[in-house]
Amino acid sequence: MQISENSVVSFHYTLTDKDGLTIDSSLGGTPLTYLHGVGQIVPGLEFALLGKTAGDSFDVEVSAEEGYGERHDFMVQQVPREAFQGVDVIETGMQFQAQTPQGGMTVTVTAVDDTTVTVDGNHPLAGQTLFFAVEVVSVRDATEEEKAHGHVHGEGGHHH
Ligand code: ZN
Repeated sequence: MQISENSVVSFHYTLTDKDGLTIDSSLGGTPLTYLHGVGQIVPGLEFALLGKTAGDSFDVEVSAEEGYGERHDFMVQQVPREAFQGVDVIETGMQFQAQTPQGGMTVTVTAVDDTTVTVDGNHPLAGQTLFFAVEVVSVRDATEEEKAHGHVHGEGGHHH
């Protein structure tokens, strides 16, 4: 069957950057399973999977806009060191949950000095063109319960 709205899809992928360096890969592990049509994966990849069937392999280039979005300088902020009470050591690369008027956001520490911590709320892959090599492993219809919940149950999905 072809991937369409409400398909449950499992696929292997290798994600590389513009220099051909591997950023992430599911090969040798568990394939990624998602519910098609609800935005669980980046838009450019979801669109490329539409109409594919189990066994299909393909490469797709996804622009930042269709991937993790553009980088925004306003999402880089300097925060007083005192805002991190209870955290003894703050180092570059650490991630924290920040509360914003728009809800929780994951920020990454990009610089630290004695008084100030610089945090970046951009997704680490924001602003990057993404190159996916994809192999579709399986395609099935979502159950009524999965459609109602908006996510996959069982293998590769939620257990509840
Ligand atoms: Zn559920």
